[in-house]
Amino acid sequence: NRRIVLASRPKGAPVAENFRHEESSLPALADGQLLLRTVYLSLDPYMRGRMSDAPSYAPPVALDAVMTGGAVSRVVESKDANFKAGDWVVASSGWQDYATIDAKLVKKLEGAALEHPSLALGVLGMPGFTAFMGLLDIGEPKPGETVVVAAATGPVGSLVGQIAKIKGCKVVGIAGGEEKCRYAVEHFGFDECLDHREAHLDKRLQEACPRGIDVYFENVGGAVFDAVLPLLNTKARVPLCGVVSQYNAQGLPKGEDRLTLLTSTILKKRLRIQGFIIFDDYGHRYPEFAKQMSEWFSADKIKFREQIVQGLENAPESLIGLLEGKNFGKLVIQVGKE
Ligand code: NDP
Repeated sequence: NRRIVLASRPKGAPVAENFRHEESSLPALADGQLLLRTVYLSLDPYMRGRMSDAPSYAPPVALDAVMTGGAVSRVVESKDANFKAGDWVVASSGWQDYATIDAKLVKKLEGAALEHPSLALGVLGMPGFTAFMGLLDIGEPKPGETVVVAAATGPVGSLVGQIAKIKGCKVVGIAGGEEKCRYAVEHFGFDECLDHREAHLDKRLQEACPRGIDVYFENVGGAVFDAVLPLLNTKARVPLCGVVSQYNAQGLPKGEDRLTLLTSTILKKRLRIQGFIIFDDYGHRYPEFAKQMSEWFSADKIKFREQIVQGLENAPESLIGLLEGKNFGKLVIQVGKE
């Protein structure tokens, strides 16, 4: 069994030496357990947080332990009556070829995901659920309002934009590079998409949002948030989903302290900024998402883009790239054959 463990904790951006490739033997199956063979491993920005031992909403990966990660797998052997060999499942089974895991922690794939299993890690899974709940429950978009979202071609951002369009909003995306921006407009149906790597994002965003911003779905933080803040309308909503531009940061940013600018803007404009952790806060509402998304998906109202990298050995480099915006679409490692 090949697996990748956390060898050391990164200082700043992760490097290849923070990971170690190992061979391990598998423990015997106990009653109620499954042996899974990993087919697709999801790479997600939250993994950077788990590599660090700073206090967070979830415990860190221990040193020398297998890297954590959601995966789509096939059941090889089952000691649980609800599963049989060959079943397609999704579970947090980590960066490895095989995993033994309690059947209680495993979910069978269903519906459209059975036709296209890797989508259970993207639009039909955790990132899709995140976009759906964050936008609809916290963002509360109304027809005619302006919604802004960054990381616009990623699994969360691309779905936020598409759901906001379904709800009758004007959608402005922000993404890294001209190609991603063109794709957000042509493929995902955004009204506009701005490149955050080009100069004067603040002015371009103001031009793109002449009626201000009613919902800003926060994925990235940093310079993008600086450009958004002055454009937020009174009573704007900000679902705070992630701040990926800061995940490799080793301290607070240098420069002027802008905390009072933020708090006084929240006060004057009566902003609602709310953080959320998808399964902790909304786990009980997963069936709502699954039902609505499968309706939209089968009616061809939802588009997606995946970037599938072959080989478990390429997971570390791919995660390092994800944190720099090198991925284009939902990043998935194909670990084994279907
Ligand atoms: P993506 O696949 O979109 O990957 C991250 C993207 O972030 C990169 O491709 C890049 O896109 C962008 N990015 C990276 N660095 C910067 C930077 N310095 N400035 C601006 N953009 C940057 O990720 P996901 O769709 O999976 O996740 C999006 C966000 O949602 C993340 O913050 C993630 O942590 C969060 N999340 C939160 C959850 C929750 O429960 N709260 C659950 C799931 C995700 P580009 O090149 O376009 O800039």
